[in-house]
Amino acid sequence: MTSAPAPALVLDHRFAHELPELALPWQAREAPDPRLLVLDDRLATDLGLDPAWLRTSDGLGLLTGTRLPDGATPVAQAYSGHQFGGWSPRLGDGRALLLGELVDDAGRVRDLHLKGSGRTPFSRGGDGLAAVGPMLREHVISQAMHALGIPTTRSLAVVATGDVVHRETVLPGAVLARVASSHLRVGTFQYAAATGDVDLLRRLADHAVARHHPDAARAEQPHLALLASVIAAQASLVARWMLVGFVHGVMNTDNTTISGETIDYGPCAFVDAFDPAASFSSIDTEGRYAFGRQPVVLEWNLARFAETLLPLLADDQDAAVALAVAELERFRPLYSAAWTRGMRSKLGLPDTVADDVVSTLANDLLGLLAEHHVDHTSFFRRLGSAARGDAEPARSLVLDLAGFDAWAARWLALSPDAAVMDRTNPVYVPRNHLVEEALDAATDGDLNPLGRLVDAVTAPFDERPGLEAYAEPAPASFGAYRTFCGT
Ligand code: AMP
Ligand code: MG
Repeated sequence: MTSAPAPALVLDHRFAHELPELALPWQAREAPDPRLLVLDDRLATDLGLDPAWLRTSDGLGLLTGTRLPDGATPVAQAYSGHQFGGWSPRLGDGRALLLGELVDDAGRVRDLHLKGSGRTPFSRGGDGLAAVGPMLREHVISQAMHALGIPTTRSLAVVATGDVVHRETVLPGAVLARVASSHLRVGTFQYAAATGDVDLLRRLADHAVARHHPDAARAEQPHLALLASVIAAQASLVARWMLVGFVHGVMNTDNTTISGETIDYGPCAFVDAFDPAASFSSIDTEGRYAFGRQPVVLEWNLARFAETLLPLLADDQDAAVALAVAELERFRPLYSAAWTRGMRSKLGLPDTVADDVVSTLANDLLGLLAEHHVDHTSFFRRLGSAARGDAEPARSLVLDLAGFDAWAARWLALSPDAAVMDRTNPVYVPRNHLVEEALDAATDGDLNPLGRLVDAVTAPFDERPGLEAYAEPAPASFGAYRTFCGT
């Protein structure tokens, strides 16, 4: 590995400059023996970063935050949050740092952020570290989400640090370099609102408008328009999760972004069998964040966001509440419209079919899938064959053959388009058993299974010979799946 001089890299510090009350200048911990595990070359190039340079020791210095260009101001960001419904006034980056902002080749401002970069003043009892397995998990799943066209933070790289991390066992440590359109969360607004400093809140809202919802700046009431934009972006996002069978697992308000990107892949998972009650996280004992509850939970989180904005919406508190409630009431119709639009594509139905026909047909089908524990991803993909005249691949997954036949007759009468279905229903999602297998191997030093899994899930709609195992549900021997948070 050769060391090259740092290229003309400019790391802006707009967040730190505009919102110093929310930004604690801090340094990443030294990585004793940094070793690159994965790098998204294409994303690096989009950001104006040379992948070959990122592989040098100076490049690894950037990816671990230990060698930054002059003028960079890495910060730990402050935020609060409702965790499982309980209020935590001071969360913040306990093991993360915002290195600064970059402008990508499309002219968009992007955060460059690290996870696992050592203790900060927000660490509380935590060690500030992350293990190789969970950081690679975020890499694989965020890569898959992006390839599925679902808004998400991106994983640029995972670097093994050479440190050890103490969990139930001793594990190799890692730092994830993450790219996002920002790391503003509902919890960021909750923190600003809780200070009682309305000027800070206004600067934060203006910062969010400029970065994410610039059209709102031209609205009569920009901060009300910000609320409307965030509700719309998040309604669309959670509809995408529901359509693909993604369970976030820890939808605390600090894990709900202002940008509308999926963030913080902790105990997340894709459902195999379709089941609204699916809940994988070991700490979510009551199923608060179960698959089918995600839209309702999001609505609750958005109500918490709306509350933070009240001082900016109107001088009179009742008037402000009325404005916020009117916006929140749009969440359900927006969500339903996004979900129905997605289901129309999944079922290949033409625009001439009315929305209520699409949603009734979709709900009837989902009822059948839930009742018979049908594999969600396989079923929708195979349904494309049924649109082409061969119902057997999908039909054979459903125990209730008469039920399937009756449903399929109604659906086929509407002339579904198989090509649209193939572009909408993935063949490959990061199935839980494959993710675990790949992470176990990677923790033991073998990155090949992870590489193959990333290859499969980053071209999720292209069925390829040799990848059959990636399209299969977990074997029965895999058992019930459990995921772990804060790892
Ligand atoms: P998360 O579950 O990743 O959304 O994190 C929730 C909160 O816990 C955030 O404030 C994190 O910074 C903090 N946190 C999680 N793991 C650690 C750790 N190992 N050390 C310090 N803080 C942590
Ligand atoms: Mg989080």
